[in-house]
Amino acid sequence: MAVTKTVPPQDVNIAIGEGLTLLGENRVQEYLGKKEHYAVPHELHIIGSLQSNKVKYIAADADMIESVDSLKLAGEINRQCKKIGRVMPVLCEINIGGEESKGGISPENIYEFLHNISQFGNIAVKGLMTIPPRGDSEKFFYKMQELFIDIQSKNIDNISMSVLSMGMSQDYALGIKYGSNIVRIGTKLFGARI
Ligand SMILES: *Cc1c(COP(=O)(O)O)cnc(C)c1O
Repeated sequence: MAVTKTVPPQDVNIAIGEGLTLLGENRVQEYLGKKEHYAVPHELHIIGSLQSNKVKYIAADADMIESVDSLKLAGEINRQCKKIGRVMPVLCEINIGGEESKGGISPENIYEFLHNISQFGNIAVKGLMTIPPRGDSEKFFYKMQELFIDIQSKNIDNISMSVLSMGMSQDYALGIKYGSNIVRIGTKLFGARI
């Protein structure tokens, strides 16, 4: 995935032209200002914390929301998607390092969360996403892989576990080593953000 926050549309379009058609946006306002300039076709995933009151702006455009970390947010996604007659694929964001500064569901609470979110008819859970504590990725990617496999083995109704989104510019190779099938790359593609 090309992570396109702060990147001007011309540069994003070069990536799309090269075949990098999966884009990750985490700033709704910024995305809305850029989207009409983006080349098609591309796919859009919303990454990073999403406020409930912003869901309505991206409900039609997003191909996946990777950062679902509360039932409040899930409820709002469900409501907005029901209005426009679609089902939104989502990932549950896991706070694998137990960091207070970060959003995400704790591994201890994920089963209860999945049980609750599985009741929403306009949401389809496809897997997990995480941002590990800085500098300690490997240990936490390993834990994520264990959790992912554990959830898979439980075959929960209406929950599919096929997507594991982890790894950024600094640690994407480690992400892949532990089973990631989406790496989210910004800096290594577009240079440092200013
Ligand atoms: C910015 C961002 C990335 C990309 O980070 P880089 O280190 O620039 O590759 C990945 N995931 C999320 C959620 C981000 O906010």
